[in-house]
Amino acid sequence: QTVFIPREVDPTEGRVAASPDTVKRLAALGFDVIVEAGAGTASRIPDEEFAKAGASIGKAADAGKADVVLKVRRPTDAELKGYKKGAAVLATMDLYGNDAAVAAMAKAGITAFAMEFMPRITRAQVMDVLSSQANLAGYQAVIDAAAEYDRALPMMMTAAGTVPAAKTFIMGVGVAGLQAIATARRLGAVVTATDVRPAVKEQVQSLGAKFLAVEDEEFKAAETAGGYAKEMSKEYQAKQAALTADHIAKQDIVITTALIPGRPAPKLVSAAMVASMKPGSVIVDLAVERGGNVEGAVAGKVVTTANGVKIVGHLNVPGRIAASASLLYAKNLFAFLETMIDKASKSLAINRDDELVKATMLTDAGRVVHPNFAKAAE
Ligand code: NAD
Repeated sequence: QTVFIPREVDPTEGRVAASPDTVKRLAALGFDVIVEAGAGTASRIPDEEFAKAGASIGKAADAGKADVVLKVRRPTDAELKGYKKGAAVLATMDLYGNDAAVAAMAKAGITAFAMEFMPRITRAQVMDVLSSQANLAGYQAVIDAAAEYDRALPMMMTAAGTVPAAKTFIMGVGVAGLQAIATARRLGAVVTATDVRPAVKEQVQSLGAKFLAVEDEEFKAAETAGGYAKEMSKEYQAKQAALTADHIAKQDIVITTALIPGRPAPKLVSAAMVASMKPGSVIVDLAVERGGNVEGAVAGKVVTTANGVKIVGHLNVPGRIAASASLLYAKNLFAFLETMIDKASKSLAINRDDELVKATMLTDAGRVVHPNFAKAAE
């Protein structure tokens, strides 16, 4: 059977869904692997490296030969037309509000898997694309902030005087926020952080940062069974804003990462808070694609406010560190695909009762099968 890895059609997407390592593993499992020419260029993987690992270098039309397609982004309508019926397609599908895309995948007859729905259980940690990419996004957010900040981050005591350490505040401490804390600390910033989930407090402190939050009764119950945050009440949000307003005014760098599953990102930094910051301060809004945590953040832009504060709203932040992001993403996809391969017959054998398959399979045999989308498709 054949596995195809295309060059992503979105020109802003530098990642690729395979690495020389995963190509080698797929070949060892008995698959023919075709990588589209140039697929790895933006991730610093030349075609020759894929070829050395056992792939043949092909063209976009080779998608039609594939039993499995490994992708970063959801296939476009044009790509769907090129796939074989019954082909398994693994990608990050980004579906909420995109019911038409789900229907199109069903109509194309592919078995589509949304990697972002992978359950966050121990067995699936190696397949967790949200974590692998958020971790790098958290790192990159600090690098982007440092690049926009016209001063040094660490305290430097020199013969010519002392440069103060940058005060850095991380709002939202999931996977991205934890890496942002660690990265900012490594660069010598003085770091504080906030979240609504109590479990985070110890994690923040263990990374050498100070935790700041409204720790009332609602806070104690803010974590769902799945480990995510609930949407907080208006009263809580007001208390949180009152607590963080003075703090934000004193910060040099603020990085926001707060998300609530299935909801718009919570607004945490108001225009008044932005206006209270010193000129040259930097805010990075990692939630900008989901509506943003910061008032005035613009998706895909770096905005400078009237008082000289830069608000960074880069899209696809993992894609800004594509070479590292691709290696981890490729490994996530391979690990999941491997569980669906029958090693004896060297072919795809999807167990539709497996919990990982049930959680991620969107469409199958012309139908929308995922419980979150099947209703909308009826
Ligand atoms: P996320 O991207 O959904 O949200 C980012 C952070 O924003 C979260 O920490 C959330 O609590 C916070 N947040 C939401 N609303 C907020 C508000 N109003 N104010 C401040 N902060 C707010 O989170 P994530 O990175 O996907 O991680 C969610 C949880 O899943 C974490 O506990 C993480 O450790 C856990 N996790 C577990 C596994 C696993 O067991 N395999 C893997 C990855 C993550």
